[in-house]
Amino acid sequence: MKKELKIKEKSTERTNPLARVFDDFISFCQSKSLFMLHYCTGCGAIELPPAMTSRFDMERLGIQPMVTPRQADILLITGYVSVKTLKRVILTYEQMQSPKYVIGICSCTVNGGMYWQSYATAKKLNEYLPVDVYIAGCMPRPEAVIEGLQRLKNNIKNDRKEQKGSAWKDYFRRYDYYLGNQQHLFGDDWQTPTDIIAEAKLYGLETEETYGKHTDQLLKIQKPLLPQEMKVRMKP
Ligand code: SF4
Repeated sequence: MKKELKIKEKSTERTNPLARVFDDFISFCQSKSLFMLHYCTGCGAIELPPAMTSRFDMERLGIQPMVTPRQADILLITGYVSVKTLKRVILTYEQMQSPKYVIGICSCTVNGGMYWQSYATAKKLNEYLPVDVYIAGCMPRPEAVIEGLQRLKNNIKNDRKEQKGSAWKDYFRRYDYYLGNQQHLFGDDWQTPTDIIAEAKLYGLETEETYGKHTDQLLKIQKPLLPQEMKVRMKP
């Protein structure tokens, strides 16, 4: 497939100084209004209620919880992720609209933490999804959570100059790498309802590393996923 496609990533560099000012203004606004998906995976989630409520008051930073992935900007992974949960995390991440950001809270997301030897947990989150910020600790206090969120906000605000707030682009640019790790964990028949390759083309983020033997495998087994059938049991 790579041989057939001559892919050149579209340049996003703006030459007009006014356009750059406009881009900076958009990034500034984005960094001031972030919705965080309310989806807690591990024990680190216990630090979120104090971080959100009156003592630390996360909302004063322009961050508030959101219940649906389609309107959320931040996916917060709050601790260890079992193989079963990771599937749901990936499904959720792929349904979020770009630009989207992932924060890994707790040492368990960095290297497996105290579950480093467990057969049932994923060890390094950034092998499966592009992680923007890690907040280490077992478990990190609300101050650390707020500090991590502040760092993400700064990365988004200064993205044009520092290129630190666009980890989400990596998922499209190196999709074959992420898909390979996912297939290794979930099996060769792993697929999600989201067409990442089509999205990569749409955003102009298709590179040679978008494709590889793992995307070839996906194309072989891919079939349209039907909406889950709901069977309502009738009372006899
Ligand atoms: S780092 Fe500690 S607190 Fe966080 S998920 Fe792992 S065991 Fe739980």
